[in-house]
Parts: sequence; structure tokens; C-alpha cells
Amino acid sequence: MSVSFDLTGKTAIVTGANTGLGQAIAVALAEAGAKVALVGRSSMAETEARIGAAGGQSLSISADLSTLEPIERILDETTSRAGSADIVVNNAGIIRRADALDFTEADWDAVMDINLKGVFFLSQAFARRLVAAGRPGKIINIASLLSFQGGIRIPSYTASKSGLAGLTRLLACEWAAKGINVNAIAPGYFATNNTEALRDDPDRNAAILARIPAGHWGKPEEIGGAAVFLASPSSDYVHGTVLPVDGGWLAR
Ligand code: NAD
Repeated sequence: MSVSFDLTGKTAIVTGANTGLGQAIAVALAEAGAKVALVGRSSMAETEARIGAAGGQSLSISADLSTLEPIERILDETTSRAGSADIVVNNAGIIRRADALDFTEADWDAVMDINLKGVFFLSQAFARRLVAAGRPGKIINIASLLSFQGGIRIPSYTASKSGLAGLTRLLACEWAAKGINVNAIAPGYFATNNTEALRDDPDRNAAILARIPAGHWGKPEEIGGAAVFLASPSSDYVHGTVLPVDGGWLAR
């Protein structure tokens, strides 16, 4: 069959896979046949249980991605426990909210370090191994609507996610000919920890819901299909795109 979404025999790394979108992406990749290395600083027990219940395979790697220190170890541990990685999903990310007039350097640096710097250097380390081995691979960055729009009260988040869209395009341009697909998914408003403050604010919640053509907050499982597509052979000629999964928000 010329169209395949099958990930059997592939090994995927998903950062921040203990909850929210990372968990849903990890489950979807495992359901499509990949062995999934779940990377993060929190317990991955819930994600491991969900993958096990779906008949999939996973392993957990404990790492704090606020520095670059764990990057080589993540790739080494994945290789020794599940085989060399074929797919990396850069999902771990944080958000800090304050008016731009009050925003602190600490909140700027914390967000940029995880959402942008860490993503670049994990992608670089992964791509160096692929190129050295002459193997193809897939990198999927989790961007945001703030890759396209300004937002309010989240200056470092918007800078990081807008930067991530640019980085996705740059890496695609450099690595496409080496057989490495670099793409991003831009989730709309999903019901996860990341958006809890918005959903708890009745005015913001109502305003956001009123603008979503689909009429509801995204459910984490609604992101899995896009990740499987971008990880699969079906996206082999897709490079440098930022794919919105947003209930139609950007179309409005
Ligand atoms: P979340 O807060 O539930 O998940 C964030 C994940 O990142 C968690 O697994 C957390 O443990 C991990 N993480 C944070 N700091 C880390 C660190 N120092 N080391 C290792 N792991 C760390 O929120 P989410 O919505 O599931 O977010 C996942 C990704 O999706 C983020 O990049 C976020 O910016 C992006 N996103 C979310 C939405 C949304 O509506 N929920 C919209 C657009 C983009």
C-alpha cells in the first residue's frame, strides 16, 4: 500500500509525556506501532499504563529539560533500551503569565530555555546521530497559535512559539535533503494544565469558546492523528510546515 501511517519498528521520543498533549501524542504513536520513550521530570506511570492498556510499548526516562545537560543521555538511554530513535516530538513546554510591563527576566529565561533552546539542542543532537548513521528521521515540534498571533500577558511564550515556527522552517531547509522531516503542530486551545488559568476565568473562557468554530476546547486525544501523520511515511514529502489543530480558530 502506498499510503501508510504504520510506525511498527520505529522508536519515538516524546518530551513532557506525563500529561496533557504529550501524553496523548505518546499514546497515539504507540497505538500506531512505535516504541515510545517518555521523557520528563514527572512520573510517567499514567502514560505507561495507558500505552500498556492499548497493547503498546513504552519506557520512561527521567530528565529535567530546563538545561541541556540530559540531552545526550536521553538519546543514549533510548538507544540502549528501545533502539535508536527515529522520531522526536519536542512537546515539553511551559508558560508564564504577566503583563509585559511587569514581566521578569526570570520568566523570560525559564520559558525560552525549555520552549526554544532545549528544542533546538535536542533536535541538533538527534539529527547529528541520524546524519552520522545515514538514517532518516522525523522531528515534530509542538508550536502554538502564538506562533501566528500575539496574544496577551505571555511575552516569552509568544516569543518562544513564534521562534519555534521559524526554527522549524530553518531546520527543514537544512535537513530535508538528508531525509529528516522537521515539522510542527500548532495546537489551538486544548483543555490541559497549560490552559487551566484561562478556563478558570469565566470571561476569558467564554470569549475563547465563542471564537472556536468547532465550539469546544480541544480534547488531548484530538491531537494524536496529526502527530501520527507527521511521524509516518505519509509525510515523507512534508517539510517545514506548521499544522494547526485548532478547531478552526485561525480560519476565523
Ligand atoms: P502541560 O503543562 O500539561 O504539559 C507540559 C509538559 O511539559 C508536561 O509534561 C511537563 O512535565 C513538561 N515539562 C515542563 N517543564 C519541563 C522540564 N523542565 N523538564 C521536562 N519536562 C517539562 O500542558 P500541555 O498543554 O500538555 O502542553 C504541551 C505542549 O503543548 C507545550 O509545549 C505547550 O506550550 C503546547 N501547547 C498547548 C496548548 C494548549 O491549549 N494546551 C496550546 C498550544 C500549545
